Amino acid sequence: MKLFNTLTGAKEEFVPLEPGKVKMYVCGPTVYNFIHIGNARPMIVFDTVRRYLEYKGYEVNFVSNFTDVDDKIIKKAIEEGVDSDAISSRYIKECKEDMAAMNVRPATVHPKATEEIGEMIGLIETLIEKGHAYRAEDGTVYFRTKSFEDYGKLSHKNLDELQSGFREIKVTGEEGKEDSSDFVLWKPKKEGEPFWESPWCAGRPGWHIECSAMSKKYLGEQIDIHGGGEDLIFPHHENEIAQSEAASGKEFAKYWLHNGFLNIDNKKMSKSLGNFFTVREIGEKFDLQVLRFFMLSAHYRSPLNFSEELMESSRNGLERILNGVEKLAGLEQRKSQGTGLSEKEQLLVKEAEAFKAKYEAAMEDDFNTADAVSAVFELVKFSNTTADENSSREYIIYLKKTIETLCQVLGILTERKKETLDEEVEALIEARQKARKEKNFSLADQIRQQLLDMGIVLEDTREGVKWKRL
Ligand code: AMP
Ligand code: ZN
Repeated sequence: MKLFNTLTGAKEEFVPLEPGKVKMYVCGPTVYNFIHIGNARPMIVFDTVRRYLEYKGYEVNFVSNFTDVDDKIIKKAIEEGVDSDAISSRYIKECKEDMAAMNVRPATVHPKATEEIGEMIGLIETLIEKGHAYRAEDGTVYFRTKSFEDYGKLSHKNLDELQSGFREIKVTGEEGKEDSSDFVLWKPKKEGEPFWESPWCAGRPGWHIECSAMSKKYLGEQIDIHGGGEDLIFPHHENEIAQSEAASGKEFAKYWLHNGFLNIDNKKMSKSLGNFFTVREIGEKFDLQVLRFFMLSAHYRSPLNFSEELMESSRNGLERILNGVEKLAGLEQRKSQGTGLSEKEQLLVKEAEAFKAKYEAAMEDDFNTADAVSAVFELVKFSNTTADENSSREYIIYLKKTIETLCQVLGILTERKKETLDEEVEALIEARQKARKEKNFSLADQIRQQLLDMGIVLEDTREGVKWKRL
């Protein structure tokens, strides 16, 4: 299995630190609002990476944090006149709901920054002891960037190149820095803000230190995969590397994976441009399975443009798969007895296995979900043309299981929600009635067969058409 490592700028063979096990950390959202569809991309992407690793037989320990102490959370809490805790716990709950609707599995652990302050303080103490951090007069603790030789290795820039960027960043209150490239590990409290006691001053941690501390606590000093959106490469991930490696003296993460950005109408998503959608808003128009399917239709490193038209076409694509699986479910239900694979079917299974191999080859090539999805489409098409009433129960079950397994790895549910199914059945029945009224009996029969394939039988009664599941 090959994956593209931002650290080396190349596709590399995946070799875990410990055979059979994968330790993975993905930066999670700052919880001050409903998550937007951009935040949903790393969630879906890395959930799929995790599922594929599990499919390969790895035991995956997956940690993803919630940043629940941050300026934006504090600002919102002040606006609403509540504690910042009330804001963050509200949006963690909402975020988990959105994740479930997108079939993103909960992480093994979802640590919250505010519950790991002790861990962060411990790490900062180690950095001070080793000369990689210092306390300024006002109590702020800074990381001494120049003390870490490898700084810039992830973003492939050296400190001199980065220096000009730093000079532009003049933050008031950070005058105690020894050097403009130094960054905050701990800052003094301000009026009305949450704070914790520390050896340096009462205050709160900087953002970068939380991921280094939580990753170390839950996964150890060295991990296999670290993920997040590409905007996090610099400075966030660069700073995480500096903190973790300066403290431990060991390589922090072996593979760094970054997803490309999700844009709207080819523009950066931004509130001020008015092109900004929360997952919740999209969920009002589309089943969030469609959003997941849409995200996986592109390679995770490519930029992805969001539009309603593209979502519509993803909905149609997903429908094709669901219809294919439902047809197989209907056929399976009507075949109570197995007769074994016929000789012809044995050959068909071999052909179908080639689609599965194509799917796996795509996933092994840096999680190319776009090509993996195409292989699923090909398999569904193959199934639609080769499975029918004359197929053996074994052949039908083989096809259904194979399609379902490949979809599950992508996190795509193959069972339609009951309400959606009912709505669809009602709509098909209506279309059939209309066809009959118009004396288009061949279309009416075709619809009856389509419903039968879905496991629905119709009864024409005096009170009208009734339907039941087989
Ligand atoms: P934040 O809450 O801003 O820290 O973001 C949480 C995660 O969402 C990070 O991994 C970001 O890189 C990612 N992210 C934010 N906006 C986008 C976007 N438009 N497209 C893709 N990923 C994004
Ligand atoms: Zn992080």
